Amino acid sequence: MKNPFHIMLIPTLGCPARCSYCWSSDPASPRMSIEIVKEVVAWLSQFEKERVTFTFHGGEPLLAGAEFYKSALPLISEGLAHMKPEFAMQSNLWLLTDEIAEILAEYRVPLGTSIDGPEELCDLQRGAGYFRKTMQGYEVARQHGLRVSFICTFTSRSFREKEKIVRFFMENGFTLKLHPALPSLRNANPEPWVLSPDEYGELLVYLLDLSLENLGKMEIMNISDLCKCVFTRHGTVCTFVDCMGSTFAIGPDGAIYPCYRFVGMPEYVMGYVHDRPTLDDLADSPIGRRLQEFKKYVDRACGECAHIRYCRGGCPYNAMVPTGGEIRGVDPYCTAYNRIFHEISDRLNSEMADAMPFEMMPFKMSGRRNQNQKPGIMTLMRYQVMKDRISR
Ligand code: SF4
Ligand code: SF4
Repeated sequence: MKNPFHIMLIPTLGCPARCSYCWSSDPASPRMSIEIVKEVVAWLSQFEKERVTFTFHGGEPLLAGAEFYKSALPLISEGLAHMKPEFAMQSNLWLLTDEIAEILAEYRVPLGTSIDGPEELCDLQRGAGYFRKTMQGYEVARQHGLRVSFICTFTSRSFREKEKIVRFFMENGFTLKLHPALPSLRNANPEPWVLSPDEYGELLVYLLDLSLENLGKMEIMNISDLCKCVFTRHGTVCTFVDCMGSTFAIGPDGAIYPCYRFVGMPEYVMGYVHDRPTLDDLADSPIGRRLQEFKKYVDRACGECAHIRYCRGGCPYNAMVPTGGEIRGVDPYCTAYNRIFHEISDRLNSEMADAMPFEMMPFKMSGRRNQNQKPGIMTLMRYQVMKDRISR
């Protein structure tokens, strides 16, 4: 989360892919008009000078087409200049043309795309031809100098192939972010792809070791973020902060939701951009009040947990799924978060106890390392700080 305020724009819930475990696409979904974008700008103009990130999400946001982005990006950039907007996009890249890539490059829009590992594994989960089409889009993005990171969704099936999958990302030098395949509020049936909390916890610990062993050679974004959370004692991604009030998603018709995960479900609409609601109005909507209840619930339920400051009970959407929208528990991935946060804290504490001067750190930016010493969490944090400084 680079900026404290995050607006997700969902130009459509339609998507040309048919991934087996996807719950966020809707073939009948309308498309966002540029009039709605103007309404979004007019709505946000009344907000204070808080820095904002806009993420184009879906469905598949590239279905909106080149003309949409040629109009939307300057409208937002100029209309909300006081909020210094930054942009991002989550897309499968199938529809990325030179024309769209050019405008995205002009506004420095980093892309997140999704592949689930090597071609045969990816297509097994996401459908025949998925991998090839995404990699074609990736080539277009590269030719235009666009930054691309990869989200890999781990399902209960691909979890068994984790070594093969991670090797694929490492060999290709791709920055990796992992997502667990999640259950959904839109699907009441038991979902065979869903990654269990125990599997997720095991996967995170496995990836922590791998990240440290391969420091400087590959980056697993979740691991860097989890370590930052523990190190700074503050959540650095939406799952681990109180996201309510700082993140909103706008559906194709201008409806405002708490996050893209709720888009398309009328019972989760908080208001409409054309009504220009204030943050207080949104917080006072029925779903706004329910999310405040979640925050209070976390304070009670997680009060004794050592990780509450930088976990905050996890994702409220995940918490609501098992009860069809009611709040009766925290995020079911609690066991996974607890496991990885414990692992990182324990290692960090023992490293701090044995603290050594930087000159003696096993890893340096040169990439050389003392072969007898394994990098730890402190080394990873130091590496991240230096990397952030260099990329600024
Ligand atoms: S509901 Fe979950 S996914 Fe959505 S912003 Fe909040 S933490 Fe993130
Ligand atoms: S790890 Fe579990 S108990 Fe601890 S704060 Fe997170 S959700 Fe709550």
